[in-house]
Amino acid sequence: MGTKAICPGSFDPVTHGHLDIIRRAARTFDHVVVAILSNPRKQPLFTLQERLEMLGEVTSDLPNVSVQSAEGLLVDFVRSQGAHAIVKGLRPIQDFEYEWQMGMVNRDLDPEIETYFLMSSKEYSYLSSSIVRELAGYGASLDEHVPPRVAERLRAKFASKQKL
Ligand code: ADP
Repeated sequence: MGTKAICPGSFDPVTHGHLDIIRRAARTFDHVVVAILSNPRKQPLFTLQERLEMLGEVTSDLPNVSVQSAEGLLVDFVRSQGAHAIVKGLRPIQDFEYEWQMGMVNRDLDPEIETYFLMSSKEYSYLSSSIVRELAGYGASLDEHVPPRVAERLRAKFASKQKL
């Protein structure tokens, strides 16, 4: 059956930082499922459908990566996929406390599931979806931070917002 890992996140939108983690996970595990989780505390810019489409497009060159949406507890989704591994990216400082907490909670919920942290690459260690959304809102260049198709969608999203 091979090893399978789940890469969870909100991906609103997917950035080069996310893609770097997904690619590196895909080199280590036989199969990677990118799980788009709806976070009840966040009002997303992109709909779930839009995020599914964008992630599908930008991971289409990775044969062992698939994309799905997920609801509820992450450990339940991991189990439902027959997986035992969660892979998360860890940026310096900002991610540590929250990810440590979530990792501990998930271990309590299911000790069979292991959380793996991949250190963010140097060039993306400052990058987040929220910074990208903010830059897009000001019409700044996005090419360094997101794939071209995502940059296009961001420009279109903010152009349609301005018309409202
Ligand atoms: P964000 O914090 O950008 O909104 P998500 O909630 O979608 O991102 O995060 C999903 C996962 O991707 C988390 O494990 C997060 O730490 C990781 N991640 C996000 N951006 C980066 C980055 N630039 N480098 C490494 N990992 C990242």
